[in-house]
Amino acid sequence: MFDPEEDMPFDKLREECGVFALYGHPEAPNLVYLGLYALQHRGQESAGMASSDGRKIHSVRKMGHVADIFTPDVLNQLPGDLAIGHTRYSTAGDTSLRNAQPLSVACSKGQVAVAHNGNLTNAIELRQMLEQDGSIFQSTSDTEVILHLVARSRERTLAGALRDALLQIEGAFSLVFLAEDRIIVARDPHGFRPLAMGHLAAPGRRPATVFASETCAFDLIGATYIGDVAPGEMVIAGPEGVTRERYTMPGAPAHCSFEHVYFSRPDSIVFGKSVAKSRELMGRLLAREHPVDADAIVPVPDSGVAAAVGYAAESGIPYSQALIRNHYVGRTFIEPSQAIRDFGVKLKLNPVRHMLEGKRVILVDDSIVRGTTSRKIVRMVRSAGAREVHLRISCPPTISPCYYGVDTPSRHELIAATHTIKQIEEFVEADSLAYLSIESLRASVQDSQHHFCYACYTGTYPTLVQIEEIALAKTGCC
Ligand code: AMP
Ligand code: SF4
Repeated sequence: MFDPEEDMPFDKLREECGVFALYGHPEAPNLVYLGLYALQHRGQESAGMASSDGRKIHSVRKMGHVADIFTPDVLNQLPGDLAIGHTRYSTAGDTSLRNAQPLSVACSKGQVAVAHNGNLTNAIELRQMLEQDGSIFQSTSDTEVILHLVARSRERTLAGALRDALLQIEGAFSLVFLAEDRIIVARDPHGFRPLAMGHLAAPGRRPATVFASETCAFDLIGATYIGDVAPGEMVIAGPEGVTRERYTMPGAPAHCSFEHVYFSRPDSIVFGKSVAKSRELMGRLLAREHPVDADAIVPVPDSGVAAAVGYAAESGIPYSQALIRNHYVGRTFIEPSQAIRDFGVKLKLNPVRHMLEGKRVILVDDSIVRGTTSRKIVRMVRSAGAREVHLRISCPPTISPCYYGVDTPSRHELIAATHTIKQIEEFVEADSLAYLSIESLRASVQDSQHHFCYACYTGTYPTLVQIEEIALAKTGCC
């Protein structure tokens, strides 16, 4: 029996990404570089950029961090006043350079490059269908399916071919396409992943148009956020100006609540709402739902900081930055010996002993996935002298994996899928453990209209039908 969690051949199942695009600025590649720099937290494994000089698309894709990849020499290979970029992180499947984005193709509609944030839930079926029809794939990324659909579309214009392709793909996608003379972006009908739109002043011409996964990328380049690409919308920025159209009817909105819990930067506006504000409210409501007598509120940096500020403000207990994060931990290090316990966490965090000694501490973090890191941090705080350690989590228990582009392990690895809160409390060795309720999470992201996805907390997926179809497609029963 096919298990979509275990057997998914596309590495996008466990992928997180950031996308950026800019049309109409003489410094486009440099600005896209800066945009990607601000989106680095969304993917640290590889990055890439494609730019157009009006006749030809130039592209660079490399493994590593944005600042290491885009040296002045590399940026000099990227001419033009329109460009798209991508940052990517994947923990399962093939993580090689061939899956780095933007991916590009030359077809009857000209050259096209694409960068994708999200995960297609019908990619397996589409890939099988395309391969049976003779398509040859270069990567294991589901994004390549989109390019093949575009290339074989009978529509004569690129916009028409994109519409054709967009109507065949399902799941989560915020896409940015680059053609020789234009940028086209699109968002899935549920709006799972964010895609913000903005303007940037350009010398001697009309303002440039920019798109980014998060508005923190606009702040860095001085662009103004004007709103989001709507679910089911396609936006074209080209020589004739900017046109917006619905390529399909929007579905029931399902914005990813985890973007507000953890994934996005707190200084971003995501789905039109301040992430910092959501997180502070999560902390405040957590304090109201799960109070405990204590001497200090200590955030797990950086993920727990904004919620800890809210918890401290609501409870009146002093906020104390008693865990210090080393921001310069590289991705590659050699663990000297398995015998050195907790080495990984000690590389990242160090406790400030005098702030913890003899104290009853409330440790605030955003989420627990497997529980192993949380246990190391609880132990660290206790061994630095804390008398009590109470763990407070600013979202509900994570009980189900994400199929829409956030890196979560399979269900059996999620501690909350198989353990009660009491058992997790024992596992992480906390004096008490409590999570934010789903109602309070909804209130924190101001979701009065039920426009958000909470599937990793509820197990109820907005597109469950498609996931079942994946299982059927693989087992051949239909
Ligand atoms: P653990 O105790 O091992 O489950 O790890 C919990 C930590 O993982 C928390 O500090 C979270 O902020 C962090 N975390 C949660 N989700 C993710 C994710 N998708 N990618 C990376 N880290 C995450
Ligand atoms: Fe976000 Fe969770 Fe829904 Fe995935 S399942 S889109 S992480 S809320």
